[in-house]
Amino acid sequence: MRWSRAFLPVLKESPADAQIVSHKLMLRAGLVRQTAAGIYAWLPLGFRVLKKIEQIVREEQDRAGAQEMLMPTLQSAELWRESGRYDAYGPEMLRIRDRHEREMLYGPTNEEMITAIFRDEVKSYRDLPRTLYHIQWKFRDEVRPRFGVMRGREFLMKDAYSFDLDEAGARNSYNKMFVAYLRTFARMGLQAIPMRAATGPIGGDLSHEFIVLAPTGESEVYYEELAVSTVAGGEQLFTSFESVDHLAAYVAEQSNRYAATDEQRDLEREATIQNVLRTARGIEVGHIFYFGDKYSGSMGLKVSGRDGTPVTPMMGSYGVGVSRLVGAIIEASHDDAGIIWPEPVAPWRVGIVTMRADDAPSVAAADSLYTQLVGAGVETLYDDRDERGGVKLGSMDLIGLPWQVIVGPRGIANGTVELKRRSTGEREELSMESAVARLTE
Ligand code: ATP
Ligand code: MG
Repeated sequence: MRWSRAFLPVLKESPADAQIVSHKLMLRAGLVRQTAAGIYAWLPLGFRVLKKIEQIVREEQDRAGAQEMLMPTLQSAELWRESGRYDAYGPEMLRIRDRHEREMLYGPTNEEMITAIFRDEVKSYRDLPRTLYHIQWKFRDEVRPRFGVMRGREFLMKDAYSFDLDEAGARNSYNKMFVAYLRTFARMGLQAIPMRAATGPIGGDLSHEFIVLAPTGESEVYYEELAVSTVAGGEQLFTSFESVDHLAAYVAEQSNRYAATDEQRDLEREATIQNVLRTARGIEVGHIFYFGDKYSGSMGLKVSGRDGTPVTPMMGSYGVGVSRLVGAIIEASHDDAGIIWPEPVAPWRVGIVTMRADDAPSVAAADSLYTQLVGAGVETLYDDRDERGGVKLGSMDLIGLPWQVIVGPRGIANGTVELKRRSTGEREELSMESAVARLTE
């Protein structure tokens, strides 16, 4: 993409209304614009990142054996009356009437809908186990939408639902998702720590939240340092464990040692105070639940079991905050100059900057670099704008692409360009051919 033709509105000033660094940077770098309280439009740069994150989530769900589908955002109140949650859910649910005065709602989650769909199609134990997921917008009328996409009212969530014949099967499905989550967050360059969590209004008896440690996080967490460093080596951990069950059992045991999240804090503070070594803040990027027959039971989902008697399937649900992750990644990876995208989620991998838009040889060299990189399938943003070099370098640092190729008259006279790695600031002077080779290898 040539910047001169792109819609990339970057701001010079830090917006006054944003309180945390990721929100400030998302506005400054032109990722999102607020259109109403807690509701955001995703501009091209932000949209590219959102899609990358979504794709990593999708690949890991598929790898875990879950199947993608798509359920609508609007749901009927009737469905939610079946489980008893229509009245229980409270003012966070956005309730709507259609022209026939039928009660509708904008889905805050999909347990009821998936249970009803499954119930209408599945008759036999042979149809189990199954895990289904979708990646769809949700609406929760949060009292205090804040921090940009971190606590929005409309937000993108991946939600998966598992159906098993018995509790042992359901726990196995839960463990598979647990591992899928560790892989998902590690692939985005995040250290997400699984913590035992309270189950809240979703119900059930087994639940973990995945928390990214960040000073601006909304959840207060207590942990023992040793346990965190063990689990935070997530990637190492899962390559050294062969079976999913082993790993999940190990991590579950470790994560029991973290004390509490917000909801549990008061209850558990007293009990754990002896062990607390550190306290920190974190961002909840995922949450998994095993809740047994809570929905299958209340909504009459039954299949015929092996011996012909009716069995109520055991369920779990598994959420990832896809749009929240964009903010969480920025909280975890930035410096004073701007965002530092981990490569797998970067909107483009390489940014080319011409220092002098009026110097014909550098422009010719940059044009050729751009053509070669794009031809080789490297996602490249070419800042060909008629702007001062310093301004362009500032914007490139702000939007945080992993690699920059800086093309200036002096270097071109010697046949060289500068290759800069955004994360470390390391710069290297090398020939055009070597630069292309390095970026395409
Ligand atoms: P929170 O405690 O942050 O309000 P939650 O526990 O209500 O979240 P879940 O029902 O567990 O949320 O939803 C699954 C995931 O969706 C969360 O782990 C989080 O990453 C994301 N999420 C929830 N609410 C929001 C929101 N208002 N804005 C953005 N993402 C959200
Ligand atoms: Mg949660």
